[in-house]
Amino acid sequence: MAVIEINFKCKVQKEKIVCNFVVMDFSSKLLENAVHEMSLLPGIGKRTALRLVLHLLKQPSGQTARLSSALEDLRNSVKFCAQCHNISDVELCEICTNPKRDESLVCVVEDIRDVMAIENTGQFNGLYHVLGGKISPMEGVGPQELTISSLVNKAKEGKIKELIFALSSTMEGDTTNFYIFKQLEGLDIKTSTIARGIAIGDELEYADEVTLGRSILNRIPFENSLKAN
Ligand SMILES: [Zn+2]
Repeated sequence: MAVIEINFKCKVQKEKIVCNFVVMDFSSKLLENAVHEMSLLPGIGKRTALRLVLHLLKQPSGQTARLSSALEDLRNSVKFCAQCHNISDVELCEICTNPKRDESLVCVVEDIRDVMAIENTGQFNGLYHVLGGKISPMEGVGPQELTISSLVNKAKEGKIKELIFALSSTMEGDTTNFYIFKQLEGLDIKTSTIARGIAIGDELEYADEVTLGRSILNRIPFENSLKAN
């Protein structure tokens, strides 16, 4: 029996409601299942899921087997570094065990993508602490769901001299920074946040007021801007 799925995507355009209907009439339950599972991934709608599944179907079966076994291996064997909580194949990640890194300087980030982004700059030689998210009451994420207590315990050991907060500049990011900052009260640790302001190459007139305002509040001595170039 054919299964018909209808997805509604509606948006208001000049007071008119425009609706796009995605009707999928699957001739195969196997195809339907594969498309459904694929479409559960973030940013993948039904149409894209169908395109990807059909693409895989055209490839040699070995490719699909390698993809599914890579995902299964990742899911079953992945570890999180015992010290920084970054994804790792071993108990302590390569960054934490690198003797050339400065262990007194710790950058607090949300997830592994931030670690990769900062590593790509080649400008940071300290260690990381991966929180696993941000405090977000709306999404039911409290401090206990994150690795904050592990960070505070590390801070109490006395090796950390400076913590750099590198979370996104959203209300959740600011709340998380403030929560950690309060937890560190009484400890001799310098805290800083990454600079927020006008991006390189941006025209001032196109910057929003909050960004421009922060850029003025967080201004730096001109000599420092010369060093950064
Ligand atoms: Zn680590």
